[in-house]
Amino acid sequence: DCAGPVNANAERYDHRKHTMERPPEPDSAAHSRHPPAAMNNVLEAIGNTPLVRLNRIPQEEGLECEIWAKCEFFNAGGSVKDRIALRMIEEAERSGRLQPGDILIEPTSGNTGIGLALCAAIKGYHTIITLPEKMSAEKVSILRALGAEIIRTPTEAAWDSPESHISVARRIEKELCERAEKLNVGKKVGDEEWVGKGVVLDQYVNVANPAAHEEGTGREILEQIPGGKVDMIVAGAGTGGTITGVATVLKNACPDVKVIGIDPHGSILAEPEDLNDDRQSYQTEGIGYDFIPDVLKRSLVTSWLKSNDADSLTTARRLIRSEGLLVGGSSGAAVWGAIQAAKHHKLGKGDKVVVILADGVRNYLTKFVSEDWMRARGFLGNVESEKEEEKSK
Ligand code: PMP
Repeated sequence: DCAGPVNANAERYDHRKHTMERPPEPDSAAHSRHPPAAMNNVLEAIGNTPLVRLNRIPQEEGLECEIWAKCEFFNAGGSVKDRIALRMIEEAERSGRLQPGDILIEPTSGNTGIGLALCAAIKGYHTIITLPEKMSAEKVSILRALGAEIIRTPTEAAWDSPESHISVARRIEKELCERAEKLNVGKKVGDEEWVGKGVVLDQYVNVANPAAHEEGTGREILEQIPGGKVDMIVAGAGTGGTITGVATVLKNACPDVKVIGIDPHGSILAEPEDLNDDRQSYQTEGIGYDFIPDVLKRSLVTSWLKSNDADSLTTARRLIRSEGLLVGGSSGAAVWGAIQAAKHHKLGKGDKVVVILADGVRNYLTKFVSEDWMRARGFLGNVESEKEEEKSK
């Protein structure tokens, strides 16, 4: 018999059978009795993400309402944008706009690019991603691993300037289309020497973007939320596809639902206009723009909250540490906003708030996950004293 310290498991261990008596199933494993069906490829692991209740943060904030997190980092490519990538590609294939051999080009803050490159890896398209310099090195590594070509553009370039990620994508599309037209004379799609054209699916105007959230994200939330009723939905806005699609479905089913949009200081998506201060740079990736994308229907939003980096990134760290949710920075902004809005609207017992957690920690390991990175920017502790410390160095 073993002479080591005795514990509960040691008592149950049967040395002759080399087997453990099966302990009772913990409550938290109950869900795993029904695994999803086997999949033909990983694209089937896009959508149907978990809705997870927050169990510490609301209580610590003195809130009696429930906050439920739609965990989009469980999608195959790690973000909410996998949904629109797949939908935009498949609709373009159906309509004939996208054909075998074509090259996908997309301006993105990274996650749409990762979603497109993932789908393209499976479906056999080449992708070129135009990405502002601000976006993390982690996103670049993932895009490269998926075989995408990456072109970095200046973060400070206005959306309509020739150097912006949007203008550069359009220019490459035009060049590739002209090249294909010249070289494909007399050939048919699918011929071996067929030269693919460039296609920008354009998440900023593509109706497949909000549609993916109407028929996917929003419908799933309604099916998942206990009792079938949502009192408040909170989401950050980049293209605005998520908040537009989800709000459309929820407002239909729950006419009194409050739709709260989160927009960082430095962006101009919020209404009324005077909420939007001067242009300033910010670190939180994936939310905010310097123009209003066509797919963002601001009339669906009840009210907007302006977020800052310190609150967003410390809340993301809190979600990781207190709730075990491995989220990215924009999820922190959304949960920070949910807390403010739930307090402001005096939500109480039984009221249900749903927050969209758009991506995961994987994209930011060298950024807000690092304590040194946070300290160097004054996002941890007392901001003023950090600045003094910096000056005296
Ligand atoms: N958070 C992150 C991390 C994102 O990448 C995006 C997409 N840009 C969003 C939030 C916002 O999503 P949407 O474009 O649907 O507004």
